[in-house]
Amino acid sequence: MSEVTLYLANEDAMVALGTRLAEETRGHGILFLEGDLGAGKTTLSRGIIRGLGHAGSVKSPTFTLVEPYEIGDVRAFHFDLYRLVDPEELEYLGIRDYLEDDALCLIEWPCKGAGFLPKPDLTITISPHGSGRSLRLLPQGARGESWCAALALEFK
Ligand code: ADP
Ligand code: MG
Repeated sequence: MSEVTLYLANEDAMVALGTRLAEETRGHGILFLEGDLGAGKTTLSRGIIRGLGHAGSVKSPTFTLVEPYEIGDVRAFHFDLYRLVDPEELEYLGIRDYLEDDALCLIEWPCKGAGFLPKPDLTITISPHGSGRSLRLLPQGARGESWCAALALEFK
């Protein structure tokens, strides 16, 4: 599987990548978003959710663990597992129902849910780079691979 590294100079570029990613996914799939606090995981999620057509605000699900969205025919679930104490709690959140339905799941801090999450289509790892951010896109299957191929050309 080929991984792709992108540099995004500012928040606008991050949101723009999210918009394009939303178009590529068409509202289906699983994305893991990795990186420290303040890396830009929620910023990218906001770009994706807005890109799916959501016009309202996108709040960080830090305390709720998950924020659901219904956008026309598309369902999206934005998780932030930072405060998850035990990965087993994901069972009580009904995570299986979210993942079985053909929705788009964005998962911040997937490491906190280890053992209770399925394999993602794509893992994006964000790290600070100068005044911007460097993003490593690692596809884990054909679907993620095709999203990456499209984005790599546009954001290089
Ligand atoms: P996280 O969810 O990873 O904790 P947030 O998205 O909440 O991070 O916050 C990221 C911060 O970094 C925000 O202040 C945002 O404006 C800024 N930011 C996001 N993307 C970029 C970027 N590509 N370059 C510079 N700053 C960015
Ligand atoms: Mg966040």
